[in-house]
Amino acid sequence: MSRKPASAENGDHLEEAWRPRPDEPAGTTGLLLEEPLIFERSRTGRSGASLPPAGVPEADASTEIPEEYLRGEWQPEDGIPEVSEPEVVRHVTRLSQMNYGVDTGMFPLGSCTMKYNPRVNEATARLPGFTTAHPYLPEERIQGPLALMWNLEQALAEIGGFAAVTLQPAAGAHGELAGVLMMRAYHESVGEQRTKVLVPSSAHGTNPATSAVAGYRVVEIPSGPEGYVLPETVADAMDEEVAGIMITNPNTLGIFERHIAEIAKVVHDRGGLVYCDGANANAILGKVRPGETGVDVMHYNLHKTFSTPHGGGGPGSGPVGVSKKLVPFLPSPVVARSEGRYRLDYDRPRSIGRLKAFYGNFGILVRAYTYIREMGAEGLRRACEGAVLNAVYLREKLRRQENGGWHLPFETDSLHEAVFTDEALKDTGCTTMDVAKRLIDLGFHPPTVYFPLVVSGALMIEPTESETRESIDAFVKAMRRIAHEAQGSPETVRQAPSVSIRRRLNEALAARNPILKWTPDMDEQLASGIQRGK
Ligand SMILES: *Cc1c(COP(=O)(O)O)cnc(C)c1O
Repeated sequence: MSRKPASAENGDHLEEAWRPRPDEPAGTTGLLLEEPLIFERSRTGRSGASLPPAGVPEADASTEIPEEYLRGEWQPEDGIPEVSEPEVVRHVTRLSQMNYGVDTGMFPLGSCTMKYNPRVNEATARLPGFTTAHPYLPEERIQGPLALMWNLEQALAEIGGFAAVTLQPAAGAHGELAGVLMMRAYHESVGEQRTKVLVPSSAHGTNPATSAVAGYRVVEIPSGPEGYVLPETVADAMDEEVAGIMITNPNTLGIFERHIAEIAKVVHDRGGLVYCDGANANAILGKVRPGETGVDVMHYNLHKTFSTPHGGGGPGSGPVGVSKKLVPFLPSPVVARSEGRYRLDYDRPRSIGRLKAFYGNFGILVRAYTYIREMGAEGLRRACEGAVLNAVYLREKLRRQENGGWHLPFETDSLHEAVFTDEALKDTGCTTMDVAKRLIDLGFHPPTVYFPLVVSGALMIEPTESETRESIDAFVKAMRRIAHEAQGSPETVRQAPSVSIRRRLNEALAARNPILKWTPDMDEQLASGIQRGK
């Protein structure tokens, strides 16, 4: 059996792959090269490593290991590409250049807080005392890592106004699950079986999903006309069947839920609990402590607010802070300190149990702790102020007529992000999706689109404090240009992107049936799936 693609023997088309396509305007894609699969580059016998002879007799696995345990017909040379070292380096470097990240340019993805990842975080995360600490070492040998975890828990508890924090969850959504399971454990501990969770219509999709996974029925409640939830709406939906409310603050419109304390009171009066989705904490860091507004449980996204790497399926971290009454239910183990020594406390009879192998994504915890210590309380407050200032500046610029008169669905003051719509383009046939694709041509990662769901054609923009005034002005200029193009030559916008390595794909098809292998007729294949014109 061979897993090598047949074309590996015949590399003709690869030469074509490394040339810019003939239909490209000169100078725009000269170094944007197609990149074949590394398997296609494989040539039998080629190697990037030189290993000394083994020095022991070779063993034959098939005679030593009983047949039923052997992995079928698989042979190492079938699945591992044989390439030289420069080929590997070029391959991964080129793939990285096809990617757009916060290190490449502005990444204004609303709700995601794509802020810069300071390099000092990487230096501390690579300290050998952290990278070589095996999680099963005896406690006396890992006092350093345990101290870091304990101190990070204290810092997050202080920032959010909570009694305790768990660092176990691996992402925001995982933190939500931890939080909702603790809410359920709490109600069970007082002999109650509640069945429903209230979720505002502006919620992040993970909120209703979490409630449903934890076995609750989701009751959607509408936001008020100003974009925030009104206490009377919550009171109308609240009864003794409701375990609690999951509310994002600031919400996904970037608007602060100004009635949060009153809402919490309405929920608490009927025995419910308040879950706050803290993914947008960048907007209130050092300004508001959610625990003091009546919130019982909240997750943080270290990969958003606390500058750790984000996206691409890499490790995230979603610590959860809880008020006093939920402390007994925290995932086990928790880090405990007595007489200056740290240990892992497994003696937690009411805990919801373990949620993650070992103690969370430790490398991410080191980065977030470094960020918090480097910034200090004042620095975190200034980061928050910078994030809000940048978003408000961008919002006020984009709504101006001379910059395209982009339409704001809510006039209410917003904080760290601004939600616009494609309303201003309605006579041009161009949509939010077209704007997003045209931004790619103009060198920007698109913002979040068509979310929150309560806004039709939403463009949700979050510059974060990482951006300078010049980079925000450049983004405004790109948006102004798109608005003008939509009036004068709408097809430019509707056919974008035109200078990226791939044209517009049928996204549903691309997700369900990805074509990963480059062929000379690939563009035609992909173009046949373009949504418009179908
Ligand atoms: C990002 C986000 C989440 C989910 O966090 P993940 O780490 O992606 O699981 C939940 N709520 C809001 C408002 C978010 O922005």
